[in-house]
Amino acid sequence: MRDVYTVTDELARRLDAVNLGRGAPDFGGPPPLHAAAADAVRDGPHQYVPSQGVERLRAALAAHYGGAYDADSEITVTAGATEALFCALAAVVAPGDGVLTLEPGYDAYPALIARSGGRPLPIPLRRSGGRYVLDLASAPPARVLLLNAPHNPTGWMPDAGELAEIAGLADRRNLIVITDEVYEQLWYGEPHRSVAALPGMRERTIVCSSASKTLSVCGWRVGWALAPARWTAALREVHRFVTFCAPAPLQAAVAHGLRWAARTGWFATQRAEYAARRDLLLDALRRIGWDPAEPAGAFFVLARTPVAGEDPFEANDRLARSCGVAGLPMTTFHTRPERAAGMLRFAFCKELPVMADAHRRLTGPLVKGDLS
Ligand code: PMP
Repeated sequence: MRDVYTVTDELARRLDAVNLGRGAPDFGGPPPLHAAAADAVRDGPHQYVPSQGVERLRAALAAHYGGAYDADSEITVTAGATEALFCALAAVVAPGDGVLTLEPGYDAYPALIARSGGRPLPIPLRRSGGRYVLDLASAPPARVLLLNAPHNPTGWMPDAGELAEIAGLADRRNLIVITDEVYEQLWYGEPHRSVAALPGMRERTIVCSSASKTLSVCGWRVGWALAPARWTAALREVHRFVTFCAPAPLQAAVAHGLRWAARTGWFATQRAEYAARRDLLLDALRRIGWDPAEPAGAFFVLARTPVAGEDPFEANDRLARSCGVAGLPMTTFHTRPERAAGMLRFAFCKELPVMADAHRRLTGPLVKGDLS
């Protein structure tokens, strides 16, 4: 079966539509990062580096997280957050364990959980007014909670009350929490706060993140896991025989990039650029009656076709045909695709002129009277 991403790529190509389907930036991170990578490719490291990651990067990560994790015993560099998640799940899930996940949710999770022998147990994120809220009360018994915040695809970020509820549930049920924070630097109101920072949570939490979105280099495959020493030891055992180590010269470059970004305030610049793209997209979708939810973080907007109950593939076709913009049918983010009726995800990780073009196309005269 063809995946929704390929279907959307083909649709956009055929109709020459602006493709807001894929969640990878169409730009490549800040120039000083490229220079550091070029230096490292020339000067090395060229061979295997220690499996847990080059010392320079682990030290830079310790600084990036405010000294909350020990570089030697609590930080592991992986091939992207995807591998960190795989190693974390493999390290803590026993066959048959229930793993709570948010739904809708990132479409890699069911496969990653299945590989670890666990059973995915979805808990709903529901739209309430303009935002999404977590329905924790419905969470069935489980061993692990796999969180993701800022969240793909809804843009949800837990508020203080939700964070406290999550920590309370984890404590009452003695859950291990694996939290995917790849969008940690992308928030538009209240700053991101990891659940691991709540009292008592650090010892039961594994944080996974990466350079992919943090520095806009998804293809570099540099990620990391932060965890108390005993789980770090367990997940390093998995990592050693999966990839052994992440790309060596790029680890050195990411170390430089993290320190440079902190020194220059680049993360705030990146956020401001994303906020401008987000606002353009929200404005266009509101104007054409697609009822978008305002994301608190990450770089996606969920919106609903004005045609009640419309198949999301048909809605996407119609939008691409009528105004030359394609989103992504939400089916891939649900275990029950019927829940995705009428829903599309739009990624705003594209250059500002591309987002401006999408805005023009969505709101321009071509579409008048053609959208419902
Ligand atoms: N988690 C989430 C929620 C994502 O959206 C993505 C990328 N789309 C990833 C993980 C993958 O991250 P990485 O590139 O670091 O493997």
